[in-house]
Amino acid sequence: MTSTSMRTHQCGELRAEHVGQTVSLCGWVGRRREHGEKLAFVDLRDHTGVVQCVVDNEVDVRSEYVVRITGVVRERPEGTANDALPTGEVEIGECRVEVLRRATPPPFPIDARADEVDEQIRLQYRYLDLRRERMQRNLRIRSTVNSAVRAAMERQGFVEVETPMLVPSTPEGAREFLVPSRKEPGSFYALPQSPQLFKQLLMVAGIDRYYQIARCLRDEDLRADRQYEFMQLDMEMSFVGQDDVLDAVSEAVLSAAEAVTGERPDRIERMTWRHAMDRYGVDKPDLRFGMELVELTEVFATTEFKAFAGAGAIKAIRVPGGADEYGRNQLDKLTDRAKSLGAKGLVWLKVTAEGFDSPVAKFLSADEAAALRARTEAEPGDLVLVVADEWATTCEVLGQLRNDIGRPPVHQGPYRYVWIVEFPLFVGIDATTGRPKPGHHPFCMPHPDDLHLLETDPMAVRALAYDLVLNGWELGSGSIRIHESELQRQVFANLGIDQEAADRKFGFFLNPFEYGAPPHGGFAFGLDRLVAILAGEENIREVIAFPKTQSGSDPMTNAPVPGDPRQLAELGLRVLPPAT
Ligand code: ASP
Repeated sequence: MTSTSMRTHQCGELRAEHVGQTVSLCGWVGRRREHGEKLAFVDLRDHTGVVQCVVDNEVDVRSEYVVRITGVVRERPEGTANDALPTGEVEIGECRVEVLRRATPPPFPIDARADEVDEQIRLQYRYLDLRRERMQRNLRIRSTVNSAVRAAMERQGFVEVETPMLVPSTPEGAREFLVPSRKEPGSFYALPQSPQLFKQLLMVAGIDRYYQIARCLRDEDLRADRQYEFMQLDMEMSFVGQDDVLDAVSEAVLSAAEAVTGERPDRIERMTWRHAMDRYGVDKPDLRFGMELVELTEVFATTEFKAFAGAGAIKAIRVPGGADEYGRNQLDKLTDRAKSLGAKGLVWLKVTAEGFDSPVAKFLSADEAAALRARTEAEPGDLVLVVADEWATTCEVLGQLRNDIGRPPVHQGPYRYVWIVEFPLFVGIDATTGRPKPGHHPFCMPHPDDLHLLETDPMAVRALAYDLVLNGWELGSGSIRIHESELQRQVFANLGIDQEAADRKFGFFLNPFEYGAPPHGGFAFGLDRLVAILAGEENIREVIAFPKTQSGSDPMTNAPVPGDPRQLAELGLRVLPPAT
């Protein structure tokens, strides 16, 4: 029981065992219902819940008034208990009501009905939205996750160190927010897209194990799982290999999950990037459902069917029961979708008792048809979708179709965590430089078994880089870092960055490594995403007290606002009309 001088109890804690006690409660007035001529039922609400108070109906209490009610806890009359309410067996009688503050009627009801209200309005009146049970619960889950993560890191010997918010630009790839310097007009700080630079320097500094619940800022388009500012559990450790980092992070994530759900998930499984792409077609596989990609390249090695002949990779997914579900129209839509994702086409086959019902069935040999059926384990009534293309396109297109067709909403149980390891060191070719692009950032350690490929076949080099994925959402990434300048130079050379450019761009970061950098590696995962999933929310805005809208504004404070001319002058800034 919590008591302060103003109240003896909190609303949501009252039960039958309190019957007979005189209590003082403080909170906001929820629903009010007139009860006969003399009395009214008033729901009194604080952060712990709601309790029914029976008050004299002469008393002027209205929706959202702030009141203090003193009265006697009594059992509700026979037949009027409310099972849906934890306090539903009792009510407060003989009430004396003190109005602490009157309130303007709120723009929406402070209960579940506000879920239907336009989000813009909810965000404009966020302080009212946050009074609601759902939002109170989400913020408390968030606090539970933060403290569980912190405790797990402390338990493992990590030291919390705060890093600055005004930093130089760091080479991690995201667009940054710039902050103009008043003392040096024309010069800018960046807001940190992550503490990457500083945490690695903390390893040079001998901190050994660092962590921070860090605010990170990236100027990228907002989505259900992305805000300009977000919180990460950021960590780095010295004298370790990949498994040490994965174990330390797993401990933090599993402890947080346990603190919220009461159940500790199993050890987090590990899967190589190659396997994830081959079987799920994405680097963040959702393991809550099947429909895995089935390998068929061999089956069609000597095919005469033109659409399959000579393809780099042929794979299929089986949609159980899909034959009836997908009419001609929907199959056309799936085909268009596959093409928009980069495939040359999509082959569909409806499985019947005798064979396949499909415009392409006649092009398959009896052996091919039999092998296709066996490999996909197709049953009559299923739909089989096949893509034949370059390996990456085949995987990605089918992976996306698999998600489109089968993926449940992210927040629906069960929770399926997976580590994806051995990401490629480089991904794709930068259109402007014609050079490979770093898969994560340019400081990731190449896989020791692939070092010999750096010069001859860089795109085949794997990195000691890993992601943590939960229900198809990427929770975070990390890597073992390069701590030797010779190797770093080689990787820069792959990226088309010569010694002079490397010194100019990254010297401030890399020169300190010359003073004795230990082998080190780390990771960062997004707390907003983890909290959202654990709270059963599909959108991270629901677990952030004051988020921005999808368009990056805050309807409550109106930020961002035009620059004040005096401030701009002081900063040496002039605003140009927007480029057309
Ligand atoms: N700084 C990286 C990120 O925020 C994480 C890491 O490599 O530790 O994604």
